[in-house]
Amino acid sequence: MRSVIFSVLFSLTGLPLASLAADEVVVYSARKEHLIKPLFEAFEKDTGIQVKYITDKAGPLLQRLKAEGKRSPADMLMTVDAGNLWHAAETGVLAPTQSDILERAVPAYLKDPQNRWFGITVRARTIVYNKDRVEPEELSTYEALADEKWKGRLCLRTSKKVYNQSLVAMMISRHGEQQAAEIVSGWVNNLALPPFSNDTKTMQAVSSGQCDIAIVNTYYFGRLEKKDPQINLALFWPNQRSSGVHVNVSGAGITQHAKHKKEARQLLEWLVSDKAQSMLAGLNMEYPVNSNVAIPSQVKNWGVFKADDINLSEAGRLQSSAVKLMDKSGYR
Ligand code: FE
Repeated sequence: MRSVIFSVLFSLTGLPLASLAADEVVVYSARKEHLIKPLFEAFEKDTGIQVKYITDKAGPLLQRLKAEGKRSPADMLMTVDAGNLWHAAETGVLAPTQSDILERAVPAYLKDPQNRWFGITVRARTIVYNKDRVEPEELSTYEALADEKWKGRLCLRTSKKVYNQSLVAMMISRHGEQQAAEIVSGWVNNLALPPFSNDTKTMQAVSSGQCDIAIVNTYYFGRLEKKDPQINLALFWPNQRSSGVHVNVSGAGITQHAKHKKEARQLLEWLVSDKAQSMLAGLNMEYPVNSNVAIPSQVKNWGVFKADDINLSEAGRLQSSAVKLMDKSGYR
């Protein structure tokens, strides 16, 4: 486990040591260091509050929080996917935060109804297609990818990944188990190849013509497009006349046993500020939760879309049903 407490040097802030000693906040982060480090440095500069953090995968961080209990040094948990955030809240490691700033900046469907976690960035999980082999007019919805027309033409990432568990959980919420199971079985029937371990490999298979369409998070598409602006792939926004595009969040919540509640709250509120939001959107090509903030130009070029606005806590509530359903449907 590569989890080392990382203290940012005092000299970065230019503030005297005494003023920093009392003001700190400790974050357990499942977001990678290259994404959070510039943010935390900017927060330190703005507030004089020192951010200490460790990074690890969401599962181990949650285990650690539970094991440490009251003795935990963590004030905040940051992770991706509403499924993970929901789990953290359900296991009791997060405490509610009442804040007008968070209330205003974060749309209700992108946060915990009990305010134990808040979305910080939005990611869209949408359809990507091979431009040489598919016309966008042929596409319509996630559900329609189960049609026979796509037999041998679909690629998917593994069902073990929480992103797909959340997508299927939201379909259960929308359609009920039976209809969701029919759709997922249809996808499995249409697979050109066994599911891939990640979104990038899935898209590479689409690009090389091993399959024609897939479902991926937009920022992974953004990374490929940045490397090769002429890439033969394009995004499609499905369900625009029905439920909208499936979105998810990266988010954070303050821990039950936070020793620096005030500072943690200040950090959480800062993360949804215009400044932090535009940094975040630029760093990983995600969408800001705060609608005041401009979207980076590459992301803007993908066009506007209607998002599914069912509360994301459904992704957690129905996660175990989704896992069972995918297993039964033969989605590995
Ligand atoms: Fe990801």
